[in-house]
Amino acid sequence: MGKNRPYPHRKAQKEVKNVEAYQCMVCGVVTRKAHGHHLIPYSEGGAPHLQNMITFCPDCHRKYHTALFK
Ligand SMILES: [Zn+2]
Ligand SMILES: [Zn+2]
Repeated sequence: MGKNRPYPHRKAQKEVKNVEAYQCMVCGVVTRKAHGHHLIPYSEGGAPHLQNMITFCPDCHRKYHTALFK
């Protein structure tokens, strides 16, 4: 996180939040601070499309990545 993503990824992240109405797909909380998360990471060739995106709240997003990369 914190790295600049190419434009299509930023656009897809914005789109997924609109489509899923800023609702976290894990805990159901609705927040304007929701994050767009890549199901297949961009670094592993994940596509910048809605089908590869999911909405997480900042908490669940952090937990997800902590669990995965600890
Ligand atoms: Zn959440
Ligand atoms: Zn993520």
